[in-house]
Formats: sequence, C-alpha cells, structure tokens
Amino acid sequence: MPEGDTIFRAARTLHRALAGRSVASFESAFPALNRIHDDAPITGRTIERVTAVGKHVLMHLSGNLVLRTHMRMNGSWHIYRPGERWQRSRRDMRIVIATEDFEAVGFSIPVAEFTSGRRLGKHRELRTLGPDVLSEGFQAAEALRRIRDRGTTEIADVLLNQRVLAGLGNVYKSEVLFICRSNPFTLVRDLSDIQLAAIVETARRVLSANVSEGLALMTTYNGFRRTTGRGDPKERLWVYGRARLPCRRCGAAIRVRKQGTDARLTYWCPHCQRAPV
Ligand SMILES: [Zn+2]
Repeated sequence: MPEGDTIFRAARTLHRALAGRSVASFESAFPALNRIHDDAPITGRTIERVTAVGKHVLMHLSGNLVLRTHMRMNGSWHIYRPGERWQRSRRDMRIVIATEDFEAVGFSIPVAEFTSGRRLGKHRELRTLGPDVLSEGFQAAEALRRIRDRGTTEIADVLLNQRVLAGLGNVYKSEVLFICRSNPFTLVRDLSDIQLAAIVETARRVLSANVSEGLALMTTYNGFRRTTGRGDPKERLWVYGRARLPCRRCGAAIRVRKQGTDARLTYWCPHCQRAPV
C-alpha cells in the first residue's frame, strides 16, 4: 500500500500542476463520477487545491465539489503533458482530469467519489483519522494519547492503525521501530512515555525527510524512499525487505514474520530490537 509520503507527494505534485487552472476535459471509468459530470459538468470548474489527508487525495473544485480518491494497494496519480505517452496501460485508466497544460491520470484507483466539503467533514473514515504525521499542525500529544489507548496491542500493529496515527504504512512501520530499537511485538503498555514519544517523533522525521524538495519529480508514484540517509539505492532501508541479510548496525540476521489480523510482514533485528524481558 502506498504510504503517507507517497500520497503527500502525489497531492503536492497534483496541486502544483493543476491548482488555479480550469478543467478542460474530464473522463472516467466510474459510472457514478460520470453521472455527476453529466448533471453538473466538471469541465470549466477551477481546481482550487489538492491536499492529502491520511491516504486520501482530495481535489477541491469550484462549486463546492471535492473529488476524493483512495489509492489502496495499486492506485496512483500521474501527471503528463498533453500528448505525452502514459507510463501505464490505458486499461488501468480510471480518471483523467486535464487542464490546458497538464493531464492528471488516475490509474487503478479503486475508490473515487465526488462529494461536497460539508459531506467530507462527516465522512466516517476521514473523521476518525488520527493525527497525520505529515500535517503542519501535527499534534504529537493527541497521537500519544491514541497510542496509549491501545495498551494491549503490539506497537507495530498500532502504528498501522490510521485511526491512531495517519500516514504510516508497512515499510515505515518496520523502519521506525528499528531506528528506535523497539521490538515490534512489544505491547504498548510495556513501552515508556519516552519510548513512545521517540517513536512518534521518528515517524514524523522519517516521513518528512521523504517528502522533502528534490525528491518530488513529476511522476508522482515512484518515490525514492529511504530511511538510512544513505544515497546508495541498495542501502536505502534498514530492515524492510531484508530478511536473513545482516543488520546494518550489528550484523545479526534480519528476521521477518507476519503480524496482526491483516498478517502484514514485519522485519526486525533480533539483537538491536530485543523483546522486553
Ligand atoms: Zn542489529
């Protein structure tokens, strides 16, 4: 699943390309979107802004209309110049919103709806989202409170819960816990306030570093994600995807195990991230 940094970059790139421009054409594979377009045309509306909330991309159009998309596992937004060759098959096209200068193409997007600003405020999934690690007004205290509420849950699972902390996905879950030397299977109640604060702060720092300027290219999906701070592409991550390879800190073999109700893969170093005794 795309993580918060990917969605954030996608929204920022869309915003830069489209904001303030008027929609020249609209096309969609979603009948429900086309019905709205027939009744109240998207063409001619101004794209006011594009934002990311958790893993949702919100495109605000004039006339109090918001296009909400959620990427789930395989969805992505690309930006092209008119006439430029698409990097994915036309079969995967779900939405095209074009201005005079750019064409935003949503590929394999499973969830899309037009909604109003007011209805958006009542949207269940959005309303229950925890503090967004990439938002400017990030409330660490509220995030910590929500983590503490889940005392009998393993910390790695809590980090994936978007109602606790919005923006983290499976890659960063493992990376953040490695950086903090916390064992992913530790129950929240067995972690100190200082440890939890460090985990939240690290999540924010690592995701923010991955949306910094210079990493944002015009194609919005393929982020150059890294947590080690090393430039070599082979050394970008500490533990994720490195089962049985030596830990970059201590040389112990990195382990992997399915964790939680969704059986998401968790990577960790059994030496650097010892289980509490
Ligand atoms: Zn290690």
